[in-house]
Amino acid sequence: MPLKINRINCLRDNYVWLMRDSATGQTAVVDPAEFEPVRARLAQLDWKLDYILNTHHHSDHVGANLQLQDAYGCTIVGARHDIARIPGIVQYVEDGDRWHLGESAALVVDTPGHTVGHIVYWFEASNALFCGDTLFSMGCGRLFEGSAQQMWASLKKLRDLPDQTQVYCAHEYTQANVRFALHVDPSNKRLRERADEVGRLREQGLPTVPILMEVENKTNPFLRADSVPIARYFGMTPDSAVDVFAALRALKDNF
Ligand SMILES: [Zn+2]
Repeated sequence: MPLKINRINCLRDNYVWLMRDSATGQTAVVDPAEFEPVRARLAQLDWKLDYILNTHHHSDHVGANLQLQDAYGCTIVGARHDIARIPGIVQYVEDGDRWHLGESAALVVDTPGHTVGHIVYWFEASNALFCGDTLFSMGCGRLFEGSAQQMWASLKKLRDLPDQTQVYCAHEYTQANVRFALHVDPSNKRLRERADEVGRLREQGLPTVPILMEVENKTNPFLRADSVPIARYFGMTPDSAVDVFAALRALKDNF
């Protein structure tokens, strides 16, 4: 049975994802930015909290770790690489590990770039990818610690996941991302359709994620650094994808 997944809005534009394994009732929250909104949702649903899954160490992703641990006695899971940087971590995972929430299995995938210890959790049977700040709808995380080469390799791993994978990213950055995407990829018909959809959703104050990987693969310029239109924008060819990706990231940083 697929996971039940809840979205909790936190801070200005963070999305915190709360999930429950239907078979066992075990629960986990991904990257809790703030305590109170998570506590309130758990109370509303009458759920307890068994686990915190962290994707990386930034404060808007681990902000409520210790308070939630105090309140619920939950187990904090994160990358072995970030033992020293994730508050309250007790369970370490690394690339290729299978982690279980009750009967739901997640594959842990290393995705360095935004930070060097960044990991994502892919629950294949639920078609759910919790990708933190590695991949956003039509965007990707800034390179705070890793290189363009590392981030491009990380994004290539994610785009190879099945088309029906739903991307549960950690921020609502889609409207800014779509403006940039249209700038570098203006002739992309699927992108223009998605831009219209995003405009409609945001006008109504609705979220634009989760979003299918199939849509991201056709609309996200950062997943398309080895495509002819994106390479051509920078006067390059698809075989220099790392350079195209680096140019894209640098342009977006100041867009
Ligand atoms: Zn971050």
